[in-house]
Amino acid sequence: MRNIHAEFVKYGKNAKYWLRRCEMLLPEIAREEIWKKKRFSSIYEYAAKLAGMNHEKVNECLRIMKHIEDKPELLEVAREKGLGAVRPVVTIATKETAKFWAGNAITMKKNTLETYVRNYKAELRPSTDLNRLENVKMELDPKVADQLKKMKGDRDWNTFMKELMDGQRKPEPKKHVATKTNGICAHPDCNKPAVEFHHTKRFSLNHEHNPDQITPLCKAHHDLCHLGLIANEEKQPYEWQTNPKYEVDKLVQAYKTG
Ligand SMILES: [Zn+2]
Ligand SMILES: [Zn+2]
Repeated sequence: MRNIHAEFVKYGKNAKYWLRRCEMLLPEIAREEIWKKKRFSSIYEYAAKLAGMNHEKVNECLRIMKHIEDKPELLEVAREKGLGAVRPVVTIATKETAKFWAGNAITMKKNTLETYVRNYKAELRPSTDLNRLENVKMELDPKVADQLKKMKGDRDWNTFMKELMDGQRKPEPKKHVATKTNGICAHPDCNKPAVEFHHTKRFSLNHEHNPDQITPLCKAHHDLCHLGLIANEEKQPYEWQTNPKYEVDKLVQAYKTG
């Protein structure tokens, strides 16, 4: 019997493959103005009539290709998996780090990669940037406010609050884990709903079942934990850094010496 679905999947796969080949030729076609030589009014008309590509697609391809043309590792990923697979990393990858990002583009799910890049960028901004501090207004009983100010002493508020939170590690029943963060992912740069619980490294090391070592996370941040991409997982989640600077430093070093 004829399997129409199987046929569709097969032809679709082939169509995608050949379309990827077209996409990667676009920069050359633009540079050499091949469309003009072949008497089309624009590269858009050329791509639409010859390969069924729309205007946005052409712009998107040219934009991505501009970023990766000088980065063979990313070109390789694009050839294998399409330009969409490298899109999340094009604004962050440099010649030195292209290999690192290409590896991530191959192994990570798209959503995980996007989250990783977003956190990575956030952490590249200097942490002393005052614009990054958030102004929180609290309604407090004057007595509580007074007590709080006394406890704070001459430390800045940020340092003080961090210390206060560190002191909060008293055991609580497991069912309260999700309420620790009001059901939101515990990663500092994330507001997605927490859908999974993660036992931080401290648990696997000492097997204490302290709920403070169980962290509610969204899918993407949980993936990043298990890929070993939280640089300081032994710390409290609000201090987590997704940017393994040492990894990139190693790569840059290897690039320079090798
Ligand atoms: Zn986990
Ligand atoms: Zn998250």
